[in-house]
Amino acid sequence: MTERDADVSHVVILEYIMSQSGRAIVIGASHAGSQLALHLRKCGWEGEIVLIGAENNLPYHRPPLSKAVMSGDKTAEQILLRPEAMYEKQSVTLKLGTQVKAIDPDNHLVTLSDGSELSYDKLALCTGARPVKLPLGDGLGGVHYLRTLDDVLAIKAELDGISRVVVVGGGYIGLEAAAVLAKAGKQVTVLERESRLLQRVTGEQMSAYFKALHEHHGVEVVTHCEVTAINGEGSVSEVVTADDKVFAADMVIVGIGVVPETGLAEQAGLRLDNGIAVDAYAQTSMTDIYAAGDCSSHPSALYQRSIRLESVQNANDQSRVAAINMCGEQQQYTATPWFWSDQFDIKLQSAGLCEGYDQVETDGEVSPENKDGFVVRYYHQGRLIAADCINRPKDFMAIKNSLA
Ligand code: NAP
Repeated sequence: MTERDADVSHVVILEYIMSQSGRAIVIGASHAGSQLALHLRKCGWEGEIVLIGAENNLPYHRPPLSKAVMSGDKTAEQILLRPEAMYEKQSVTLKLGTQVKAIDPDNHLVTLSDGSELSYDKLALCTGARPVKLPLGDGLGGVHYLRTLDDVLAIKAELDGISRVVVVGGGYIGLEAAAVLAKAGKQVTVLERESRLLQRVTGEQMSAYFKALHEHHGVEVVTHCEVTAINGEGSVSEVVTADDKVFAADMVIVGIGVVPETGLAEQAGLRLDNGIAVDAYAQTSMTDIYAAGDCSSHPSALYQRSIRLESVQNANDQSRVAAINMCGEQQQYTATPWFWSDQFDIKLQSAGLCEGYDQVETDGEVSPENKDGFVVRYYHQGRLIAADCINRPKDFMAIKNSLA
């Protein structure tokens, strides 16, 4: 037998084994979906694995989109989660540029955008989240959202010709974009409707710190600010707020939050609870259907409530647990949430969730001038529940481990 004959018979045997084992379908090809599909194989799933993604691009890292890709430090090719060959090697079939239109849980079938149907033995929903849209500025050039690679490439393509950028929303997306654009010499204004930046995710001291940091680098930050109009002819020229302020703009970037992609789950009759409800095993309310990542909410033993996390860490860790359980194990998802953000020359690392804190402890001066960094710890009834660390990686690791 020649080497080639041996290769061919190896492939034939593999295909036979896969056809005799079940088929796993993973819907959504970003951090959670890509991790889940490959981890299934690692955990011993012998059958076919199909990873379906609506975008045409190979699965890529999202965090660099609002940082290194936007600044030009990294290209699209440099942010791929894995090379294409890895999926081939693990016999994971990629169906990119494909949408799932419906799930039929009774018959274990999914319907794809081309009308074809695929049966599954186990199904995982990793559908992520989509940006909240402002009902303003529709169809105007220069108005952008920032969630996908294509979104960032569209922003980058316009950057050379513009000088004034208005960022709507002072969350991570808005602030990371503002930092990159200010560094690139653009005149940047951030408009946030709450009384402080990052209100949803951090405490008052950190909000004040980020405002001071951005102002220190020349960004104008306006809070208590509701955008009421985005005007222009053909392309955007100004943003108007409820108190009749007018901000000139050549570009608008909107980062006003995301909503979980639950349409398919709802159509299939899965239980929802601020996302697709899963148990500690990443299993949905229906047998053989799992969910992981931004789209799902899970019970947290640490916080004694159901939580939905919008982070890469959660996508990776929860999808690994889902894959293990889809292979027949019973492992609980208990990871401590953590996040990071790079803005200007600082690195924020957050461990835990600070919601509901009643006491704050600060270690180091909370100021943009303090290059040594600092830590803000959050407590609830005397128990440490979260911490924000600026340029203090060792403290971050210690706190993260202590919360576990
Ligand atoms: P976000 O964290 O929800 O922040 C959006 C902010 O915009 C909120 O403070 C929101 O206030 C405000 N807002 C809403 N409507 C507004 C309006 N009409 N005018 C002005 N401000 C308005 O969401 P995001 O920054 O868009 O980020 C999207 C997702 O990506 C989040 O899950 C985020 O955590 C994730 N992300 C994470 C990182 C990281 O971990 N480093 C980086 C980038 C993105 P309200 O609370 O009043 O709605």
